[in-house]
Amino acid sequence: SRTYVITGAGSGIGKTTAQILVEQGNTVIGVDLKGTEVVGDLSSREGRLAAAAEATRIAGGTVDAVIACAGLAIPKRITAAVNFFGMTEFLEAMQPALTLSPAPRVALISSIASTQPTAPPLVEAMLSGDETMSMSIASTLEADPATANLIYSASKQAISRWVRREAPTARWAGAGIPLNAVGPGTVLTPMTADLLTTPEGVAMVDAAVPMPLNSHQGPESIAHLLIWLTSVENTHCCGQTIYCDGGADVVLRGDDV
Ligand code: NAD
Repeated sequence: SRTYVITGAGSGIGKTTAQILVEQGNTVIGVDLKGTEVVGDLSSREGRLAAAAEATRIAGGTVDAVIACAGLAIPKRITAAVNFFGMTEFLEAMQPALTLSPAPRVALISSIASTQPTAPPLVEAMLSGDETMSMSIASTLEADPATANLIYSASKQAISRWVRREAPTARWAGAGIPLNAVGPGTVLTPMTADLLTTPEGVAMVDAAVPMPLNSHQGPESIAHLLIWLTSVENTHCCGQTIYCDGGADVVLRGDDV
């Protein structure tokens, strides 16, 4: 039995992952805006630090794995705050509790959107850790309907790059902590429900994210991959974003390994 902290555990992929882990006999401490063991807001630094402290306290000081799922897909600047800083700052705050575990693991959720057109200045600002600058750039993107959607893809590209940069460092690999991401294609959760109610919405989503293998997926496929990445069995997968997307990444990027 292991102790997991899961952000975004109130809905969708995080909720399903939490349910499976509990069924398997593990302890799960969920973090979300409501309805979880820790109620907190990951859109601000204070909220992230308070949530990490509370999750660590409930866990009794030692956490075996953290799975960061909380995210937004709205074309607004708060999406950058939650999707990037709400994962990275929260994970950094959880790192000391992870080092006390005999087999610590971390997984987070990126997206197939990480491979799609983004806003490079926003990606760079996020990777430099400058949230004020990131929010200023995201505000400009948000103001123009032609660029507002780039906030989401930028947040996910930054997350996948952050994982590659951070995974081999002393804080993670050096402390025996594998750090990896899963990049889902289209998943049937409350996040995508509205978009997929009309044939036009489905056609738009499928044009952007073609999924030749089994089309849209429920959250279970992503949950099982997150669970493997954070299991004791994962000793050497490090710094990767593993696309679980029905083939969308290979269709879109072809030979570009
Ligand atoms: P969801 O909306 O069902 O769940 C997201 C959860 O994050 C919600 O419970 C929400 O309350 C929580 N959250 C949002 N803002 C928060 C905040 N400020 N503080 C704390 N919690 C907050 O969506 P989902 O589909 O389960 O998405 C989970 C992750 O998967 C997200 O990072 C999303 O970007 C990613 N993703 C989803 C899809 C998809 O098709 N659904 C595809 C690729 C990536």
